[in-house]
Amino acid sequence: MKTQSHYNRTELARAELLRELRQQGIENDAVLAAIGSVPREAFVSEAFGARAYENSALPIDCRQTISQPYTVAFMTQLLNPTPGDRVLEIGTGSGYQAAVLFNMGVRVFTIERHNELHRHAEATFERLGMDIACHCGDGTIGWSGYAPYDGIIVTAGAPDVPKALTDQLAAGGRLVIPVGDKQDQTLYRITRDADGNLSGEEFHEFRFVPLIGRQGWQG
Ligand code: SAH
Repeated sequence: MKTQSHYNRTELARAELLRELRQQGIENDAVLAAIGSVPREAFVSEAFGARAYENSALPIDCRQTISQPYTVAFMTQLLNPTPGDRVLEIGTGSGYQAAVLFNMGVRVFTIERHNELHRHAEATFERLGMDIACHCGDGTIGWSGYAPYDGIIVTAGAPDVPKALTDQLAAGGRLVIPVGDKQDQTLYRITRDADGNLSGEEFHEFRFVPLIGRQGWQG
């Protein structure tokens, strides 16, 4: 059973994180509410449990990272999903970003290339009662079986925009993806309009682990 003091610490840490995100320019209430409702401690190893609500990236297995809450919030705000939207995520990692989308009422499909992370995230979703479709494989080629998507979010840094992903965007769909070299990437939002045309907007720089696959880095 949780003690009262543990409950208070978690609540306080979450409230402080939300305050910080607002200060950093996150103003979408649905995004903030979702971040406030996902137990981030369930997505980090026990060793980092006490730091779960720090606004920082933390290591997970397979030399990967759970993204910084600010990055998750910023990308989700760019994606701007509405309840019922179908969203594909490339790079499940810990599963945290997928859980934030799920709590926004989104139908989430997520792909991870490391089997260990895929299985671990799947177990976490099940434990939290989150109905999220998980696949282990190369996300640079998308997940054609469930396409098209209203949103696609790539949480690893790509050398270029994989064509397979823009091809799987519905009319009105948004693809949020960091593109650059292996050190730094610029975040892009690519939108497909009602006539099928693509247009891009550029946002600030971030640092992600590399997207490795057929239409990503070759290892
Ligand atoms: N969204 C995650 C962040 C994980 S870091 C979270 O919230 O925790 C990015 C993840 O992308 C890593 O787990 C990495 O293994 C994965 N990845 C890299 N290339 C990939 C590819 N081609 N397909 C699927 N996953 C990939």
